[in-house]
Amino acid sequence: MPKVTIDREKCKGCLLCVGVCPKKLISRDKSLNSKGHNPVKFQDKGECIGCALCAIICPDCCIEVYK
Ligand code: SF4
Ligand code: SF4
Repeated sequence: MPKVTIDREKCKGCLLCVGVCPKKLISRDKSLNSKGHNPVKFQDKGECIGCALCAIICPDCCIEVYK
């Protein structure tokens, strides 16, 4: 099962990754990070296919996908 990690302190909340996930597993987190941005969070429902689209589109390299 693929594993996805998101560096919430680096995330600026642009939501590009939310739009590309075919399984809708990434969503906006309500809590702010230390820079005042709403980061995103990965919700592991056992449905991630490890496509890494989320990691590829992130302009700040906040996401890593392990297969
Ligand atoms: S690897 Fe693919 S399926 Fe998994 S969270 Fe990222 S975009 Fe979604
Ligand atoms: S694409 Fe990167 S910076 Fe933008 S919301 Fe997703 S993790 Fe955060």
